[in-house]
Amino acid sequence: MKTAPATANNTFNKSKVDAALSKNGNNLFILKQRRVHFKLSTRPDKQQELLKKKYSPINNPDVIGLKGDKQKNSNKTQNNSENTTEDLENEFQKPTSILYKKDKLKLHWNKISSIGSGLRNLGNTCFLNSVLQCLTYTPPLTNILLSSEHGRKCKNQQFCMMCELEKHVSMALGSGKDSVVPRSIASRIKNIAKHMRIGRQEDAHEFLRFVIEGLQNSVLRGYEKLDNRIKETNMIYQIFGGYLQSQVKCLECKYNSNTFDPCLDLSLDIKGCDSVKRALELFIKPEILSKGNKYKCSRCKKLTNAQKQITIYQAPMVLTIQLKRFDFARSFYGGGKIGKVVNFDEVLNLGPYMSKSHREIPIYRLYAVLVHYGGSCNSGHYYCFVKNSNGIWYEMNDSSVSQVSLKTVLKQPAYLLFYVRDPSSINKMPTKINVNIFITLIFFFFFYQYIFKSFL
Ligand SMILES: [Zn+2]
Ligand SMILES: [Zn+2]
Repeated sequence: MKTAPATANNTFNKSKVDAALSKNGNNLFILKQRRVHFKLSTRPDKQQELLKKKYSPINNPDVIGLKGDKQKNSNKTQNNSENTTEDLENEFQKPTSILYKKDKLKLHWNKISSIGSGLRNLGNTCFLNSVLQCLTYTPPLTNILLSSEHGRKCKNQQFCMMCELEKHVSMALGSGKDSVVPRSIASRIKNIAKHMRIGRQEDAHEFLRFVIEGLQNSVLRGYEKLDNRIKETNMIYQIFGGYLQSQVKCLECKYNSNTFDPCLDLSLDIKGCDSVKRALELFIKPEILSKGNKYKCSRCKKLTNAQKQITIYQAPMVLTIQLKRFDFARSFYGGGKIGKVVNFDEVLNLGPYMSKSHREIPIYRLYAVLVHYGGSCNSGHYYCFVKNSNGIWYEMNDSSVSQVSLKTVLKQPAYLLFYVRDPSSINKMPTKINVNIFITLIFFFFFYQYIFKSFL
């Protein structure tokens, strides 16, 4: 930091005042009155950066965290003397600022209306139609799209995925027609995914990934230079994104090494699984790294046996699950699809699959199911089932729209499952207090029974 040189005039005035005040013996007052100008340092302060990573302001209004985070923070402050640089690298790096606050999202529908239009097929565009329909019935996303929050301010003259989807959703939900043509999005498919083209069957999951990426690019325009953790607080990421924790424990020195990866959906292996629950159990099952696959422990400084486990560190507001039905290596030669039914429920609790440090219980409700019919991902037919804002389920099969029961939906050989978080499960933590109250009540019950009996 540098002190700005005072101008001649300034110095003159000040020294005059100083002299006058000194006469009265008020030196302290002079010190208080003297203005010192600071300039921003151009040299990076490593020590300060390290501290910034370590602590976050207690009352920072920009940072909204789940209760678990807050608790962790307070623990961190208490134990700060024990923390080393190694621990710092090992912890989740929270964003230093937030682009879009998660609590601004509305997980329930803002407006209840009758089911929207079907989408006409433009020649093998069922993959595109099904994905667009699933996105259209995603409450937190569509609430924002229907408010034109983005479009009103967007200055992008070129292709903008947000603007395109805004137009599409208001057409699909507001035209009142039995079916509409998603021509605008279909004709811009090369802007969404360079390698895709109309007329050829594409993988619906891959298309969904490109649409979500496009939406993120739209809302991140002008923020491209920010660091990734801040970028991951954009509106779209706040809806669909979460974090996975990968923990490797050295079995010799017991040291835990953690990495945290952003994730926009869960891709679950379904080989040997008859339900999504089972597939999730296998997803978090610890794996032993040994023999030819040993782990290089940073503390032991050698190759050791280790245990690796992936868990969900931060649960998303909208959870997308892909059931890995396609074996891409095999489907190259045709076939290679796992066609069996994998059971899934309307309500899903992600609690058992969360990281231990995050004792959160995220509860989700199913709102869309995307199905693939046929032998491989590059052939066959895609269609989907969506839950409308009025709570009724519909099958959306290109231009055809028909009401179905939840029972029918739950019987589908799903490829993609879409769940939205139950707002009441946000910040819901299992508390020890409840257990304590329970124990106290039982104690008093027996105590009074004992007293009551002794009086008889
Ligand atoms: Zn736009
Ligand atoms: Zn070790």
